[in-house]
Amino acid sequence: MQSERIQEAVRDLLASVGEDPVREGLRDTPKRVQQMYTELLAGYSVDPVALVNGALFDVDYDEMVVVRDIEFYSLCEHHLLPFIGHAHVAYVPRDKIIGLSKIPRVVDMFARRLQVQERVTRQIADLLTEVLNPQGVGVVLEAIHLCTMIRGVKKTDARMVTSAMCGVFKHNPKTRAEFMAHIRRPTHEEF
Ligand SMILES: [Zn+2]
Repeated sequence: MQSERIQEAVRDLLASVGEDPVREGLRDTPKRVQQMYTELLAGYSVDPVALVNGALFDVDYDEMVVVRDIEFYSLCEHHLLPFIGHAHVAYVPRDKIIGLSKIPRVVDMFARRLQVQERVTRQIADLLTEVLNPQGVGVVLEAIHLCTMIRGVKKTDARMVTSAMCGVFKHNPKTRAEFMAHIRRPTHEEF
């Protein structure tokens, strides 16, 4: 990412809305915004192969693995405003599993880009399908979008739900129902 160009663009934006980019409160804003975008868009520079490398294990296990309530933060590509929510990811292994901590990192890698929620959902499912060659993958994302909350229709509690179902999750209604039952259960009843 080109730090200086981002800062220049933020200075232009400030001047364009009639602000004085060198007044005290705004003087460091271009730098802060540039650092913020570098963090929020860090997913572009993550190599997915390196991310999962060393975290794949051969196992004789073919029951569903579910990681639910993974917090994520993304940026809507239409308005550059955040959308925030939870991802629920499940797969049924064929002969390989992936280290538990890697799934949230896969979610982060795709969330930390300019996105639409549908695409993040699909990208998570596609990558896990590619690296694990599982019997199936299911991904559900629930999120609130600041662009619908604070502008336009101003629906503050509208929650968007997207899903991507592959393999047994697509073709076997029982597998899909098991996954949905897992993610509907309230967290405090888990233990
Ligand atoms: Zn938007």
